[in-house]
Amino acid sequence: MKRFISICAAVAIFASGLAAAPAKTPQKTLTVTVIDVGQGDCSLIQLPNGKTVLVDAGSGGVGWNPFDAGTTIVVPFLKKMGVKHIDYIVMTHPHSDHIGGVRPVVKELSVGTLVDSGFPASEADYEMIMEIAKRKNLGLLEVHAGDTLNWDKDCEIKVLSPPKNYIMGGQSPVNENSIVFKLTYKDVSFLFTGDAEKEAGKKIVRAFKDDLLCTFLKVSHHGSKNSLTYNWFLDWAQPVISVICVGQNTWGHPHRGTIKALESYGSLVYRTDRDGTIRFVTDGKTYKTSFIAPDEDERKYDGDYE
Ligand SMILES: [Zn+2]
Repeated sequence: MKRFISICAAVAIFASGLAAAPAKTPQKTLTVTVIDVGQGDCSLIQLPNGKTVLVDAGSGGVGWNPFDAGTTIVVPFLKKMGVKHIDYIVMTHPHSDHIGGVRPVVKELSVGTLVDSGFPASEADYEMIMEIAKRKNLGLLEVHAGDTLNWDKDCEIKVLSPPKNYIMGGQSPVNENSIVFKLTYKDVSFLFTGDAEKEAGKKIVRAFKDDLLCTFLKVSHHGSKNSLTYNWFLDWAQPVISVICVGQNTWGHPHRGTIKALESYGSLVYRTDRDGTIRFVTDGKTYKTSFIAPDEDERKYDGDYE
């Protein structure tokens, strides 16, 4: 009995000691995973408050790109990561290699709101997505330059492009009107640029040059010659890390000059075709980078691109 009492006393002392210690709240982290979807774009953002944002979803096997990255890569990847609900899908612009995979994601997972710029789209993919969105009663949100998205009180999410009256010039008006936004968590920031090109870049620098400085740059347009890697853009952005989303392609993406330009600013350049899926985890002060190599199936679709 005596022994039992002393054990109880020891437990009580230990318990009271625990209660007296200041409660340690786990450090909230922001995770950005750039998913290797071959030729196309797809990034998953897991905000510190637990909300999830998918920025594009790779190709979907409709239109010019016969590869369904949404079904074969994005949905299995999200399920493997335990992601059951996507709060927002940002469709940067309605091209197949960006929004094609949205259809399988919306079919297979629970999705809250689709976000786009409202720029007129003629691709079959877009109409199919909108039909499903209507049937499933998904939220629709149109965003433009200057908007601030209140998705996490600890992060600033600012839309830098396209403007409300859109960009009518350039080689590809659809690319030029990509949603460009900056996500900032304390000292660490991520600049997402879709496939924005020169005309968009000029307007962004004119209106938001002081917002461009970033830790991480998702290089626009798969690192093409027209990506936003002009000196007049990089002078303001100065990315520490740049990621090029690219797979096997016939357009010569990424352009050698793009990589040279980024490196001349001291930026570390990663490419999904060589590095696979790339993950950044940050507490807002420091960040960790890790890589998830493509498995055999995924590598097949990436080809032997050099
Ligand atoms: Zn693209």
